Amino acid sequence: MLAITRAIATSSTKSSQFRYTIVQGRNKSKTHWAVLKRKTSAKYKAQNHFDDFYGSVFGKKWEPIKKAMLRRPKYVAVVNNYGDTEETAEYLTNRGAHCLKNLMSIQQEFNTQYNPTPEAATSAEPDDKLQSYINKVQSDDIADIYPQTGELPDKLDHGNLILNSTEYLLTNKVDVQAQNNSINISTPKSPIDESRIIDPSLGMSTAEALYQYIPATKLKGMDDWLPESLHYSFVSTNKDFPLVIDEETEFKFPEHLKVYTYEMESEFTMFPEPRRCKTGVMNYYPLDCGSVLAVLALCLSPGDRVLDLCSAPGGKALIALQTLLPDIVICNDPSISRSNRTMRTFNDYLTDFKTSNKWQERVLFTRRDGREFTDDHGFDKVLVDVPCTTDRISMNENENNIFRPDRIKERLRLPELQSQLLVNALRLVRVGGAVVYSTCSLSPIQNDGVVHVALKRAFEDHGVLASVRDLSACMASLSSTVELARGNTAPQYGQLVTPSIAANFGPSYVSRLVRLK
Ligand code: SAM
Repeated sequence: MLAITRAIATSSTKSSQFRYTIVQGRNKSKTHWAVLKRKTSAKYKAQNHFDDFYGSVFGKKWEPIKKAMLRRPKYVAVVNNYGDTEETAEYLTNRGAHCLKNLMSIQQEFNTQYNPTPEAATSAEPDDKLQSYINKVQSDDIADIYPQTGELPDKLDHGNLILNSTEYLLTNKVDVQAQNNSINISTPKSPIDESRIIDPSLGMSTAEALYQYIPATKLKGMDDWLPESLHYSFVSTNKDFPLVIDEETEFKFPEHLKVYTYEMESEFTMFPEPRRCKTGVMNYYPLDCGSVLAVLALCLSPGDRVLDLCSAPGGKALIALQTLLPDIVICNDPSISRSNRTMRTFNDYLTDFKTSNKWQERVLFTRRDGREFTDDHGFDKVLVDVPCTTDRISMNENENNIFRPDRIKERLRLPELQSQLLVNALRLVRVGGAVVYSTCSLSPIQNDGVVHVALKRAFEDHGVLASVRDLSACMASLSSTVELARGNTAPQYGQLVTPSIAANFGPSYVSRLVRLK
């Protein structure tokens, strides 16, 4: 196929003339391998997945959120109380940044005068759009499992699927032999599920590669197969346990926490790289404002014993220490490399961190699976900042992306892991203490869905009762700094920071639970 592919312009001082070169072009009817690779790379998979899911849930609000998430995120700067504190605060002010605590109190005064009732979450039922999206994923899965059988179940029982999909098929009296036959008949006609085509650059073993390449329905015995709808089974309207929602009354901005931010729409959004103070530690710590919210929601008090159940790389634990309130912070994370990053950060920000006894008594490191963490005393506060789909990172980076084909099972099982971690956190906190559950995802499944299931399981399996604390009134004073989901996209059990071009923080979901029993 011949094509005019290029126009080469040559110019002289007096006139310009164009010379067209006709070159051999590639046949465009075949997809170029590089294009295919690009289309199937993990970050594009994530974007497509979110377009489908969040497009259904957030409607018209999704496109502007997506646009912001594909841009550079905004950060706030937390002044290091162990460095040249006053000098750093002055430096940030001179750069046009504002103290978050002051912004919040100004906004609170304004709200009290002009808008006394913040828009509350609308209903306790899962949103209709979410429910119809889940129904769609379920019926796609059913069609995958039961091709051409005619007799389709209404629902998949994910409780069994979490354990083993073959057991599921057996307990639901599905004839596996008949299943395989119908698969054999239908497979030649079935379109290949493109989401399972692997990116060869991932360098997987042949076995793994085959697993990814074969359509899910073709797996023998289906032992390892998980349906996409498993991820969505964490939405329940079932309230056969005491669900208590109380307005938050303990919220107070910690006196010593100094957070600086640029205004919404400001042309300055980025802080320069932090630098060393005279004492050798760094002058401020840059991080997403949503991460600060998670620490604020802990409502720390002097002398608190705090557990950070999934702590690495330590950003939120460092902010908790910067409030100068907790006595003890236990930083737990099973990942050695990530825990080492926490230690390096603490060493950069806390004076004499490696050598002083004071720090060794106050900051402890453990590397346990958070689902099995035990403790005899009961913590005052527990932060559960769970592994999640890290939406912004997944949309922008291919490396180690949770949407990579070889991480499908891990991704689908996230809500189960998250709820187990939250149930254990509710068991570890003392009666009267608080658990903060947080994610950096917009997913109503990983957010409210997991909180609901965990509250139910904690009550039914362990007799632990916790109330959801409604933070909307306290967080309303942040409206000049962050964009919080309101109206029909607002979560019921927490606050959701949604990215926008003007305030490009998040996504971050924060839910505060106080143990009653
Ligand atoms: N809180 C951290 C911060 O502010 O820097 C970020 C936490 S990150 C979102 C989630 C962490 O959970 C990861 O470091 C991961 O290693 C850890 N994690 C994964 N599985 C876990 C488990 N079973 N128990 C405890 N932590 C786990």
